[in-house]
Amino acid sequence: MQGGQASGTADLDQLVRSAREQIAAAPDEATLEQLRIDLLGKKGVMTATLRGLGSLPADQRAARGARANDVKNEIESMLTARTGALADARLETIGEREWMDVTFVPALARRGHLHPLSLILRDVKAIFSRIGYEVALGPEVEDDFHNFEALNIPAEHPARDTMDSFYLEGSPLLLRTHTSPVQIRYMQAHQPPIRIIAPGAVYRRDATDPYHGSQFHQVEGLCIDEDIRFSDLKGTIEYFCRSLFGADRRIRITGDHFPFTEPSAGAAVSCGICGGAGCRSCKGGWLEILGSGMVHPQVLRNGGIDPARFSGFAFGAGLERLAMLKYKIADLRAFLDDDVRFLRQF
Ligand SMILES: [Zn+2]
Repeated sequence: MQGGQASGTADLDQLVRSAREQIAAAPDEATLEQLRIDLLGKKGVMTATLRGLGSLPADQRAARGARANDVKNEIESMLTARTGALADARLETIGEREWMDVTFVPALARRGHLHPLSLILRDVKAIFSRIGYEVALGPEVEDDFHNFEALNIPAEHPARDTMDSFYLEGSPLLLRTHTSPVQIRYMQAHQPPIRIIAPGAVYRRDATDPYHGSQFHQVEGLCIDEDIRFSDLKGTIEYFCRSLFGADRRIRITGDHFPFTEPSAGAAVSCGICGGAGCRSCKGGWLEILGSGMVHPQVLRNGGIDPARFSGFAFGAGLERLAMLKYKIADLRAFLDDDVRFLRQF
């Protein structure tokens, strides 16, 4: 229904009927607005009709003008009524289309959880950073010198039997059996004072049982300076163990043997379950947690450090063991499983 079609001769009754049908059939407010423009706008049918009145004979002009005004008003009220009806209908159906169940409780977003090995490593890093230690890292694929020779473990040395290794096929390189090669590499690159901890994965061809896996994690420490003594090692072990396990723990230091330290010592903390009386979780009230000792003079030399001027101590612990003791985890293999229920406990 474009304006050009209409003129002063337009059949007004026919126009009203047509407009009524179209307005009643308009499905939405946008269609109604377009009809309003087509019918009543500046270029609309009614405007053209009213303009056309001027060409009529004078005796017809008044009657037809009055009728045209009535038609214009009628169309306006039809448009207004239909607009109101559509708005009412929209409000009525919105309850059906956009309803909301206010009793519905959505599932909460699940937060992730740090692995116990990450938690324990965070603790260890924080404890040692407070006394000036830095974190040092090194390669997991090592050569024989850094993994064995420089640590006083030559070929045929019995210590190699306890570190049954993974060698790369067709290569003398191996997956490191401990994090000690990081100490050698750090000594080669730095002169004392040295205070580092070296955390990371290590690999041994052990059977996988509740206490051993072919991949596990260690954290080692190394402190080298002038006049470092065994009493410094003892104080550091006590500080570390009590920071990690609690100030009430007692510390036991016993003689041990490692090729790379002299003298060597093992450290144990009193059992947190039985308080040191002895129970199924401990060995006579004690839990062994680390090996340590004064760095062997030859190891210092292998790292490029003069043992006549500097001395130092080193210690190493299994991160899994620390986490098992701190969080009371029974089976080492749980660390490698993908059971999220395990993680949520900590
Ligand atoms: Zn116990």
